[in-house]
Amino acid sequence: MSDSKTQILVIEDEPSLRRFLAVTLAANGYQVVEAGTARRGLELFAEGPPQLILLDLGLPDGDGVELTQQLRGFSQVPIIVLSARGDESAKIRALDAGADDYLTKPFAVGELLARLRVALRHSARATGGPSDPVFTAGELRVDLSRRQVFRGGEEVHLTPIEYRILTVLLQSAGKVVTHKHLLTTVWGPRHAGEVHYLRVYMAQLRQKLEADPNHPRLLLTEAGVGYRLKSE
Ligand code: CA
Repeated sequence: MSDSKTQILVIEDEPSLRRFLAVTLAANGYQVVEAGTARRGLELFAEGPPQLILLDLGLPDGDGVELTQQLRGFSQVPIIVLSARGDESAKIRALDAGADDYLTKPFAVGELLARLRVALRHSARATGGPSDPVFTAGELRVDLSRRQVFRGGEEVHLTPIEYRILTVLLQSAGKVVTHKHLLTTVWGPRHAGEVHYLRVYMAQLRQKLEADPNHPRLLLTEAGVGYRLKSE
């Protein structure tokens, strides 16, 4: 591709939604290539890898979860899956297969563009951009090199497990992190199903880090899926 614009591959079989995405993304400065099937998506990927893929989970010739697994066999391109309401299990399987984020239809354009920016920024960082050892979001500041956490300038003491959970969320700041990923990373694969651990520890973290723990603005719950640390 001769264009220097960020290229996005849209794989969606519903023509009106695909068209809408293409027009909206083009209007926001992205270059768009469109596929209506999984097979066509892979062909277009082979012709010139895009910087990001928007992937519908229900395609006529396969499902987006399998396609995510296939793509992850040879590429770390950011993938945002588009899922139908009520399609929780496919959405979670896609995230566990390596998708970066999801949007539930119907979604707002502002939300779509925000998720795109986060995923693209994250992938730029993962491919060798400067990594800042100090993370800030709202009142929260985390100094990763010193393992210190501050809220509104005051140091907050976290237990080792709380700190570990926070850093896992922070490494994917702005993106959803599944229960399974958090549990596996923090407690190990044998505890991948113990979602209640997370409820307990997230409540503690919110108590320490949120101005109003009952109305979290930083440590967000993604119902049935996982958690997201807000980054913008
Ligand atoms: Ca579909």
